[in-house]
Amino acid sequence: MNKHDRMESVRNDVLALKESPLYEYRIENNYIPVIGEGSLDAKIMFIGEAPGKQEAITGKPFCGASGKVLDAMLEHVGLIREDVYITSIVKDRPQDNRDPSPSEISLYRPFLIRQLQIINPEVIVTLGRFAMSEMLNVFRNNTNQQPISTAHGSEISLTDNKTGRSLTLVPLYHPAVALYNGGMRVQLIKDFEVLKKFM
Ligand code: URA
Repeated sequence: MNKHDRMESVRNDVLALKESPLYEYRIENNYIPVIGEGSLDAKIMFIGEAPGKQEAITGKPFCGASGKVLDAMLEHVGLIREDVYITSIVKDRPQDNRDPSPSEISLYRPFLIRQLQIINPEVIVTLGRFAMSEMLNVFRNNTNQQPISTAHGSEISLTDNKTGRSLTLVPLYHPAVALYNGGMRVQLIKDFEVLKKFM
């Protein structure tokens, strides 16, 4: 199967995920699971937390207020969305934007792993502490479990144990933090400059 068909198969499997505690909420509200968007050949893959309301209505990642911050960050380093791939660890919207639970994160993990295998990125940029800690768990790099307040903007080496390939994790704050805190916005944009050397 080519990359496009493999990603469609991820989408179909998430659509059929009736055992998710978020499935009923999705159906009741006519929400769409957010699988991801961007280039399937991207070198840089962004991983957020879970869709918000706008994302669940449209099925598109980061299309609400946080998305505007993400677009400003991309523009700052001369990237556009089509250059990268954007997804999140949980594909359905948690009720009232609550944090995803550990069991929800585990339930959606196999889909994220399949997406990582399809895209095979050189750099994974996590947005927020949940996505950072999920990637450190997936790649079994538990030595670097620092809080996001220390780890943001750093480069953490990861190894794909299946292929032996090395890749870099860049943990960033979630763009939502910049909505309420101008200082954080400055920090986020500054942290983002780390990506320049991978472009
Ligand atoms: N936050 C996320 O983590 N993902 C989105 O798509 C929107 C907000």
